[in-house]
Formats: sequence, structure tokens, C-alpha cells
Amino acid sequence: RRWGFTLAGELRAAEARDPHRPAIIDEHCGAITYRQLLHRAQRLAVALGGTRGVAPGVRVGLMCRNHVGLIEAMVACSLLGADAVLVNTALSAPQLTAVAEQQQLRLLIHDREFAPVAAAAPCERLDESRVDALLAETPPQGRWTDVSRAGRTIVLTSGTTGAPKGARRPTPPGFGPLVSIIDRIPLNVGERILISAPLFHTWGYAALQLSLAMRATVVLQRRFDPVATAHAVDVHGCTALFAVPVMLQRLVEAGAVPAKPPRVVAVSGSALPGGLATRFMNTWGDCLYNLYGSTEASWASIATPADLRRDPGTAGRPPHGTRIAILDPTGLPVPRGRIGEIHVGNEMLFEGYTRGPGVPPPPGDRPDGMLGTGDLGHLDAGGLLYVDGRADDMVVSGGENVFPRPVEELLTQLPQVREAAVIGVPDPDYGQRLAAYLVLHPGQHLDRDEVREYVRHYLARFSVPRDVHFVPELPRTATGKVIPRLLRTM
Ligand code: ATP
Repeated sequence: RRWGFTLAGELRAAEARDPHRPAIIDEHCGAITYRQLLHRAQRLAVALGGTRGVAPGVRVGLMCRNHVGLIEAMVACSLLGADAVLVNTALSAPQLTAVAEQQQLRLLIHDREFAPVAAAAPCERLDESRVDALLAETPPQGRWTDVSRAGRTIVLTSGTTGAPKGARRPTPPGFGPLVSIIDRIPLNVGERILISAPLFHTWGYAALQLSLAMRATVVLQRRFDPVATAHAVDVHGCTALFAVPVMLQRLVEAGAVPAKPPRVVAVSGSALPGGLATRFMNTWGDCLYNLYGSTEASWASIATPADLRRDPGTAGRPPHGTRIAILDPTGLPVPRGRIGEIHVGNEMLFEGYTRGPGVPPPPGDRPDGMLGTGDLGHLDAGGLLYVDGRADDMVVSGGENVFPRPVEELLTQLPQVREAAVIGVPDPDYGQRLAAYLVLHPGQHLDRDEVREYVRHYLARFSVPRDVHFVPELPRTATGKVIPRLLRTM
């Protein structure tokens, strides 16, 4: 393992052990073995190094949906010692231009469909057809010569709270982080894993790292579609599915259940509503794992199906090697049951942001080495973690602290309501007041007073949304998180 647990290192290790196992099954390109994947990535590395000057330290943006070409490009960058910056496919042209400038991209490799967005990016651009042409011109590699270091991966945060920040992901220092996951989630070598979470997001990327380390066969579809996903599980005999919570909601709504559901369905990236966890397990079986984490902290806790059956709202427990502390604003631990900021310590904390001055220092600068997540949460008497919401989302209304999440969960239990989001808006008398945004099921009607009456029946007076808006859909990030600043403009 000369290159350790880098993407290229993992691929080489897998290729050495299982060269003929399918590494990727891509809905358009079919299956490609570990040996073929490594050879194609090496060939692409030669092409990019020779014709585009990609070399150690150079940053290459990758703006692609989930397909084999993205993985080849990631590994090619890793082999060349270049840093791959994974770009969110939902970025607009001005956002992409800003990212390209901040991250000092030399080259952007993108899917053809993103050509209009990429057109103004201040760097060289290569769409997938030109990548294919480049590969066709490059002869297969007889021998590959290593550069002195593998490239790094930079993952952008989701940009829920503002412009996305680039976070340098660390290389796992050993088997520890991997073992800590499979200790809690029963994954075996050679698993067939459908990764529906976007690979450019920290959760999809972690799923890919894990899959390569487990010499799994990764099944990829460019777009998530509930019926096609359930179908792919059956067609390819997938034993695991990695997704984000909103995808589970789409699966449940569509009534899409594979004939043979996977043993493991793991979700992360945003909060998993308790009601959804139960509804999902009632049809797919007790296969659901909820991972809490972030781009900066990686995975911090895991809830197993048994945890979710006991309490569907929990984010579970930290895996081996991870510490969680709930601290008050002065940095002291709060008693069990009380809410404070969730702090995380593990070997996989990010190594700092790659964007401009004024961003928070990397976690190593903190005396205890732990990272404040900006999320508020609490531990119950048995040590299970609950994420109550982001500190930024907490609403202070008339001096009371209100968390939107329980109100949202309650609202989604109304049979007419498909989705609900609750945020704070400025109020001249109370400082802030709650505003609810509801998406109703087709053909359903609700009265604003009915909504307020219903919440008043279950929750404290200050949790009742004074504003109730009916909207056609909620603005979401790629991981399905509602974007409050866009809601305010609706
Ligand atoms: P930005 O930092 O740009 O605003 P972001 O924080 O949304 O973007 P991510 O790193 O993708 O970017 O999201 C991590 C956040 O998502 C966590 O801090 C937490 O608020 C939320 N989250 C992730 N997984 C879970 C989970 N299982 N339960 C509850 N919340 C979760």
C-alpha cells in the first residue's frame, strides 16, 4: 500500500487482489473490471499530464453526475498528484465561476449537459466527449511511473448557509475509519453497492472510498429516479444502497420496493425524519442506517435499524474511534438530555478550507482537537445522539428558543402534507417568528388556521408558525437539504 488509502491507492490494492471483479456497473457503459478501471485511469492520467499540463499541485474541477467517467477522472488526478475539486452539479454559471476562481482551477472536466454553465468558467474546459477523444488518442500504458505523491480530493460543502467552501479531505490514516464503519454496518468484501448519493458530495465520496476499500462492485445511475433505482437493485442484485434521506421519501411515495431489498440502506447528508425512517423500514425491511456527519467532520455517528426502531429520530452513536461531546457556549459539557453544540473528534476531520481568508481554522488548531459542527444536539440517558438542528436555524421568538425540526416533523404527519419546512423570519415584536412552507399532495387543501390549530394542539404556543405558505416545491441542495435563504425569497 505505497499510496495508502488514497483513491488511487485503494484502486490499486483492489486491482491487485481482484483484477477481474466488476468495479463499476454504469447504466450507459455497462460493467468494467478493477483492472480495466485502473488501466483506463492510467491512460487518462497520461493524456491529461501530456496534453493539459495536469501535474502535482494543479487543481482540476470535476462537474459530473454519477458515472464511470467521473471515477476515472478522480483516479487520474490522484495518480498525477493533482487535486480533484468535486463540483456540485447544481451550481449556476456565476457560482461555478466563483468556485473556479476561489479554488484556482486550471482545468474543468464536465458532463456535456453542463457546457452552458461551464462556458464562462475562467479555466480550460473539457467535456466528456473530448475526454473520450483524448483517451482514444492515447495508447494503452505498458508501465506506469508514479509521481512522488498522490493527489488530494477537495469536497465543496453544500452551500446551505452561503457560498460553498472547499474542504480538503484527509487520506484515511489506516484501516481504522473503515473498520469503525463496518463494525456498525454489516458490509462485506465484494458487496454490490448502488451509490445514489451524488459522488461530488462528501457522503457519496465517502461511499466510494468505502466501496473501493471493500473491493465492492459499484452500481451507478446518472440521475436518481425511485422506480429505476428499485429496479436497478433487483437487476444488479445490489446488497447495499447509499442514498440521501429525500431519496427515501421519493421511494416511499412512488411505492418503489425491490423484489429483494438490499441488506443495507445507508443515508446521510441531511436529517432523516423519524416518520420517514419508520415508513421506509415498514416496506424495505430493517435495513436502514442513518449516519450523521458533515464535509468537515466526516461521519460522526451511526444509527442502526435497531436504534431507529427504538427511536426513529435518533442519529445513533459514535463509531469506534470517534468522540462526541455536547458543549455549552463556554466550552463546558452540558448534562445528558440538555442541548448544546455537537463537537466531534476523529481521524477523519477535514484539513482546512481551501477558500480565501476569514474562514474558520482547521480543527487541529483547537486545544482538544475536536471540531465544533455548528449543529445543536443532545444525548439521551442511553447515549444516543439527537441532532436538534443547526445553530443558525434556531429561532429565538419572544425570548424562547424554538427548533424548526420538531415542527416540521409534526406538519409532515398531516395527511395532506407532502413536505414541510419551517424557518425564522424577522418580527418587529418578537424578534423572530416562525414561518411554515408546505407542499401539499396533489388535490389536497388545507386552511392556514387549521395548520396553526393542529400545531397548537401538540406543541408550545411559541412553536406555532404565524406565517403559513403553500408552495409548489421546496428549494433543496443536492443532498436534499432545504435552503432557507431561497425559501425567504419564495
Ligand atoms: P454549508 O456548510 O456550505 O452551509 P452544509 O453544512 O449543508 O453546507 P454538508 O457538510 O453537506 O454541508 O452538511 C452537513 C450538515 O448536514 C451537518 O452539519 C448537519 O447539519 C446535517 N446532517 C448531515 N447528516 C445528518 C443526519 N444524519 N441527521 C441530521 N442532520 C444531518
